[in-house]
Amino acid sequence: MNNKKTMDAEKIQRGVRLILEGIGEDPTREGLARTPERVAEFYADALGGLHEDPEEIQFGLYNVDNNEEMIVVRDISFHSLCEHHLLPFFGKAHICYIPRQNHTTGFSTLARLVDTLSRRTQIQERLTSQIADILEAKLKPIGVLVVLEAEHLCMTMRGVKKPGSGTITSAIRGGMRRDATRAEAFALIRGH
Ligand code: ZN
Repeated sequence: MNNKKTMDAEKIQRGVRLILEGIGEDPTREGLARTPERVAEFYADALGGLHEDPEEIQFGLYNVDNNEEMIVVRDISFHSLCEHHLLPFFGKAHICYIPRQNHTTGFSTLARLVDTLSRRTQIQERLTSQIADILEAKLKPIGVLVVLEAEHLCMTMRGVKKPGSGTITSAIRGGMRRDATRAEAFALIRGH
């Protein structure tokens, strides 16, 4: 996943100047003069996850005596850039899993994973399944459910959807697929 390429700020700046020309703007006017530089800096940060390998995230693992009960972590904020329009989509990730013994992890690890995978050119469905796949590989849980709720500016800005309306995706792995278990996990995520 880590292709060892890094970002070429120079190239991004040239591209932004071309876009400004293309839309009929004057890239040399005062307000726009530093825009290519700002956009390149912004991408370095907002898309920095492209050059981080989620496999390398250190998962702090510990044991909780919970007899294979579900653990729910709700409302992990994320911001990503839709790869079809290079516009933000953002929202909350919710993770529900049934840990194996000695394989429970903390909020900060889960937040770090969501962050690394979302700061890239993404689509919401792939982001959701990538989170589930890494969790499955790292925690080897009995089951895991990942739910993402997001607003996509490429939809709300064009009026395809009302502002604030969400797109919900989910990915389910392992024992969480069983009907009753899945229903319980969804209910926990909804806060019931
Ligand atoms: Zn889009």
